[in-house]
This record gives sequence, structure tokens and C-alpha cells, in this order.
Amino acid sequence: MSGPETITHWIAGKPWTGGAATYGDVYNPATGQVTGHVDLATAAEVDAAVAAATAAFADWRKVSLARRAAILFSFRELVKAHSGELAALVTAEHGKVVSDAAGEVARGLEVVEFACGIPHLLKGGFSENVSTGVDSYSLRQPLGVVAGITPFNFPAMVPMWMFPLAIACGNTFVLKPSEKDPSASLLLASLWAEAGLPDGVFNVVQGAKESVDAILGHPGIAAVSFVGSTPVARYVYSRGTMAGKRVQALGGAKNHMVVLPDADLDLAADAAVSAGFGSAGERCMAISALVAVEPVGDELVDRIRTRIKRLRVGPGTDERSEMGPLVTGPHRDRVASYLDSGVREGATLAVDGRAHPVIGAVPGAAETGGGSAEGFWLGPSVLDHVTTAMSCYTDEIFGPVLSVARVDSYEAAVAMVNVSRYGNGTAVFTNDGGAARRFVSEIEVGMVGVNVPIPVPMAYYSFGGWKSSLFGDTHVHGTEGVHFYTRGKVVTSRWLDPSHGGVSLGFPVSS
Ligand code: NAD
Repeated sequence: MSGPETITHWIAGKPWTGGAATYGDVYNPATGQVTGHVDLATAAEVDAAVAAATAAFADWRKVSLARRAAILFSFRELVKAHSGELAALVTAEHGKVVSDAAGEVARGLEVVEFACGIPHLLKGGFSENVSTGVDSYSLRQPLGVVAGITPFNFPAMVPMWMFPLAIACGNTFVLKPSEKDPSASLLLASLWAEAGLPDGVFNVVQGAKESVDAILGHPGIAAVSFVGSTPVARYVYSRGTMAGKRVQALGGAKNHMVVLPDADLDLAADAAVSAGFGSAGERCMAISALVAVEPVGDELVDRIRTRIKRLRVGPGTDERSEMGPLVTGPHRDRVASYLDSGVREGATLAVDGRAHPVIGAVPGAAETGGGSAEGFWLGPSVLDHVTTAMSCYTDEIFGPVLSVARVDSYEAAVAMVNVSRYGNGTAVFTNDGGAARRFVSEIEVGMVGVNVPIPVPMAYYSFGGWKSSLFGDTHVHGTEGVHFYTRGKVVTSRWLDPSHGGVSLGFPVSS
């Protein structure tokens, strides 16, 4: 087997050849082996990327909407044609099963498709004769160089939440992907080049905290989109805005699924298992807290347990696997530690994922795409009788651990969700339309599902949570994305006609 591959930056339309002082390890989570070394950017490489993006902006902002849309259409075709390759890269470095990786590419593509409509999205308003002989119209113009900083859990989709619209709006872009699974970003960069995007419009700097700090402090960057954990989102928002940048920073989550006593319990159990353990629970919209309104708790946990027993955990490359490994060894250990702390704090370990079989995890099978006993495995787990004081409830675990809390009433369930510091996603399961409608109105969360456990909005709506799940006012993609990546201008114009004339020092009013 060949040694670890070098993964570097993409600046000014080509891979970086300047080397790096330090690098990070990239793993195959199914085997635990190091498969890549990713260059970690310093301020110098961030400077080079911003310089390339600044130079490209001068022309890109003037490129016609028709031409921009044509490049986006080509990019869309190329991403579609290379979806399998992109998904394979995601599986190789993140570990998620390949069907799930293909799903994230498909959801990212929806934003590209939305951005293809940029000529329509950037249409302004026009009012004739706002005052006698005076017309007004509005424009939205690009900001300049904008940056995106993204998490490990969606290495293709989350960057695609950002750059298609940013670029379509006439900005140039610097992406700083997660250092844990950096390769998808480079395939996307080469597809942009093939689609005809001018050099320097899309750049990638690989790196960790040092590169993020260089982005936040860089005077040449006008705006930053961030997606990641809440502490880093808060940091990025405060440092970025202090430096005068426009910032949207999406943070972590603790998503509650409320099951009312009249719900279809089979539907609810299917949904809890799918949304709790899909992508090994490493989704910002994963259900991590199940709130059972009694008396359904015992029955629901029984049905969930039965379904978990049938789940096939194994390497993401095996099409029969339903759940893959976690992203790194330390992350797996941290997630598993909540099983012990939960029990210590009084919860019941209803399902212990440490005992779940890993199928295909045979040592030495890495070269054929199989797993290894050294991979970062943890099976689906359920902690029952969880209370809001326990750390398994208060912390974002970000792994395959479902915490079940039981409450006595609808009101208690809503109160529990509403005091949570997070407000990303939530779902209610019920057959009562009136109860569902009341839940939608009363719940303090940005994205709500009714009998739908992962209510990720389509690209033409905007994605984002409330409270500590989002810092800033603007959600990503949809029309809010267009607003984030542009600034408004209103023009008031008069073309002289023979009736003009006279000085007036009064404030302009319509006449
Ligand atoms: P993370 O916060 O550790 O990293 C996110 C990005 O910030 C990465 O690019 C990373 O290199 C950088 N970074 C990490 N630590 C930093 C530091 N101290 N200073 C500056 N930059 C730093 O998040 P992660 O572990 O990659 O991703 C998982 C988290 O992302 C979870 O909390 C999850 O809920 C969240 N997430 C949220 C959404 C959402 O839409 N709200 C979507 C996906 C993931």
C-alpha cells in the first residue's frame, strides 16, 4: 500500500506548490489508518488565497448574469457526473456510508441548482415617478472576497450551502474546509475550473485554527460564513464582527423529537432510529433527545431497541452497511464516555452500542475497502430516563447516542425544548393536527418537523437555527443567502426636463 497522500490548497486556479510547514493527519475511520497528510495553512497561504480572490473580483463582478448562470449550469452537470467520486471521497475520510455521502452531494447540488436562477434572484425593484420626474430603483451588489469555514460532518454539502450563491452573486470565495476530511473541497475546485470559472474566483486553504484566525483578521475579506460547533461559532462571530466583517456563524445543536401519546409509535420509532443514528449521529440535525410524553415511553424504547438490533454497522464502502464509524478515535472515545457518565448520573443504559457487532471489520481488509478492528467504531446506543441535569442531555454529544427523557404533558415537553440553549431543529410526532399546529407556533427552534424527523429546508428556503445554534441574523442559502452575499443600494435619479430648476436646501420630499 502506498504512503499517505499529500492534500494541499487550491489557489488561483491550481493546486498550491509552495509546501507547508506543518500538516495534519487524515484517517480512514473504518480502519484507523492514516491515509493523508493535509497541509495546514498559515497567514502566508491565506494571504496568497485572498490576493488571488481580490485580483479575480475586479473582473468577476462585471461578468454578466447570463455568463455566471451558464458557468453554474456547467458546474452543476460536472458535480452530478462526479457525484460518485465525491461521495467516495467523503466516505473515505469521514466514514459515513456511501449512500449517505451521495445524499449529501445531492442536497448540496440543490443549492447549485438554486444559484443557477441568479438572474432572477438579483432582480431589483423599480418605481417610476417617486417624485415628479424622479425614478427610484434598487440593486444588490457583491461584497468582494468572502470566506467559508466548514465542519467535518458534511465536507461536500456544507461548503455547497455557501459558495454557489456567493459566487453567483459576483463575489470571489476562499473556502477553509475541515482538516479532518479535506479532499472533497479539492475535487469541487477542479470541477469549477473545468466548468470555466476564472482562476481565483474559488480558492481553498486547508488548515486549522491558525488559518481561521488569519481569515478573521484579514482586512481583504468582507464576510465570513461559518458552520461548526457553538464555542467556535461564537468566537468566529465575535472576532469577525469586531474586525468589521459581515458574519453568519451556525453552531451546534441538541435536537428534540417530541412524541405525543397519540402518535403512530412505529412511525416514531423508525424516525428516532433513522434520525438518531444516520451518519452515526454526526449530523447537526440528528435527533439526540427523544421526549416521550407518557405513557408512551416504555413502548417507544422497546420498539427502538428492536430496530437497533437489526442495524448493520460496518465500513461505509460496503453498500450493505447502514451506519459507519465515527470520524476520529478521540471523538469516538468522547462520545462513548457519555454512556458511562449518563449511568453515573442516574440514566439507564437501554442499549449499549459498545456491544454492537461491526460487520466487515476485519483486520488487514483496508486495501479492499473493508474495515479493521482498529477503526473508530461505536454502535447505536440509548440512554433512558435522562433528565435535563445530566451532561448527556446538556452537552452536544454528536455521535450515535440517543437520550430519552420522559415527561407528563405536552406543556412540559414544549417547556423542555424551549429552555434548551440550542434551537437548531426539532420534530413533533402526533396524529393531532391541532396539537402539531400549536407546537409549530410555540416552539423556539429555527427548523421544525411535523412527523418529519430531520426537517432540513430545501435550497430555496433558508437553513439556520435559533439561540446558540446561530450567531448573526442571516440563515444560509435561499433568499437569505442572496442577501448575506450582497449589499443593497437604492438609486434615485432625475433626468432633466425643461421644468427643472431652482435651489432648495430643504430635505427632499416627494412632490
Ligand atoms: P468545529 O467547530 O470543531 O470546527 C468547525 C471549523 O472550525 C473547522 O473548519 C475547524 O478547522 C475550525 N476550528 C475548530 N476549532 C477552532 C478554533 N478553536 N478556532 C478557530 N477555528 C476552529 O466543528 P466540527 O467538529 O468540525 O463539526 C461538528 C460541529 O458542527 C457540531 O457542533 C455540529 O452541530 C456543528 N454543525 C452545525 C451545523 C449547523 O447548520 N448548525 C451544520 C453542521 C455541523
